[in-house]
Amino acid sequence: MPGLVAKKSFEMHLTAIACVSKQVAEAGMQKAVKEMRTTYNARKNQPMDIAVSCDRTWARRGFQSLYGMVSGIQVDTGKLVDYEMKREVCFKCQANKDLDPTSQEYIEWMETHAPECSANFKKSSKAMDRIFPPIFSLGVPWTPST
Ligand SMILES: [Zn+2]
Repeated sequence: MPGLVAKKSFEMHLTAIACVSKQVAEAGMQKAVKEMRTTYNARKNQPMDIAVSCDRTWARRGFQSLYGMVSGIQVDTGKLVDYEMKREVCFKCQANKDLDPTSQEYIEWMETHAPECSANFKKSSKAMDRIFPPIFSLGVPWTPST
């Protein structure tokens, strides 16, 4: 019987799958938006009057989640046109939480880490509910219906 997969190997495969999944999802969303532009005779970056259903989901219920996501699905086609992820935590920041924020070590680490930090929301998950739907990541122009 083969041995278990090493943690490092598992994480490398997980990262590769996540990267490819994101590329496929973004290509699909771009294709869906391009098809909508063709259907509605809209030029690039011209706003379209379309119905989009926004739905959000959390990793946990009860406003305790550290991760949230909202998706925008075009009502007519059922195709995903955009999404946005919000994270309250960053594992690299968590790993360095014991460093003194005024120390030179922390300041130097944060200078290199800040551009890649995955924490993009510093309020509670309950506060996340109030900001969604956010400005979507792919920049599909939209306005909420009334
Ligand atoms: Zn971070």
